[in-house]
Amino acid sequence: MNTLRRPVVAGNWKMNGNKALASEMSQAFDNQHFNNVEVIVCPPFPLLTQLSKESVKVGAQNISKFDSGAHTGEVSADILKDAGCEYVIVGHSERRVDNFESNGLVADKVDIALKNGLHPILCIGEPEDVRDAGDLFDFLSAQLNAVVSKVGIDAFAQLTIAYEPIWAIGTGKTASPEQAQEVHGFIRDFLATRNKEVAQKIRILYGGSVKADNATELFSQPDVDGGLIGGASLDPQSFISICRSA
Ligand code: PGA
Repeated sequence: MNTLRRPVVAGNWKMNGNKALASEMSQAFDNQHFNNVEVIVCPPFPLLTQLSKESVKVGAQNISKFDSGAHTGEVSADILKDAGCEYVIVGHSERRVDNFESNGLVADKVDIALKNGLHPILCIGEPEDVRDAGDLFDFLSAQLNAVVSKVGIDAFAQLTIAYEPIWAIGTGKTASPEQAQEVHGFIRDFLATRNKEVAQKIRILYGGSVKADNATELFSQPDVDGGLIGGASLDPQSFISICRSA
C-alpha cells in the first residue's frame, strides 16, 4: 500500500445475495469509518438499488457494450447510473470464460463505461497453466494492450485494475504477498513505460481468496492498493474486517 493512492476494497457478490443481505450489509456499514478506504459493493443487478448509497459505493458486475435499444438481457451504462452505480467490474475471468468475453469485447466495455462516466474495475489474470508455462507476463500484457489500444493510456487515470489469478479465485489458494507484488509491480511498470503519472496514480487491487486473515499481509505490499473480494464479501463482519485491513 502506498499512501499516495487511496485504498479501495470492492466486494463482488457474483450470483449471490438477496434483498435481506443488501439490507444487512447496508446496516452493517452504516456509521463505519475506514480511515480513507473506499468501499464498493457489487451485487447482482436487481439488488443495485437496495444498497444504501450512504454506507457504501455501488458497482455493477457487467455492462453492455451497447448504448441502448433492442438488446434483450443487456444493461446499459445509463441504466446502471440511474440505479446509483459509480463503478462497474469489466472482464472478470468468470465472464471471460462463461460468456466468451474476448480481450476486444472487454476493451469495448471499458470504453463505453468511460464514455458514460462510470469507473471500470478492469480484471486481468492468468490461468494456472499459463503461469506454469512461463507465459504470465505475455498473457497479462495482451489483456492490458487490448484496452490501451481501444481507450488510450491517458484514460487509465479513470480506471482501477484488479489482478486476479484465475487459480486463486474461489479456491482458497491465495497468491503469496510476494507473488501478488511481483505482478502488481509488473502492471505498474507496463503502464509507466506509456504514462508515468497514470501508473503512479492508478489503483491496482488483488483478488483471489482474500480473507480477513490474509488481507493485511497482501495489502501491505507496496503496489497492492486494496482488494476485489468474492466469497468473503458476502459476510458483513468478514468484509468489514477486510476493509479495516486496507
Ligand atoms: P474470491 O473471488 O474472493 O471468492 O476468490 C474473487 C473474485 O472473483 O473477484
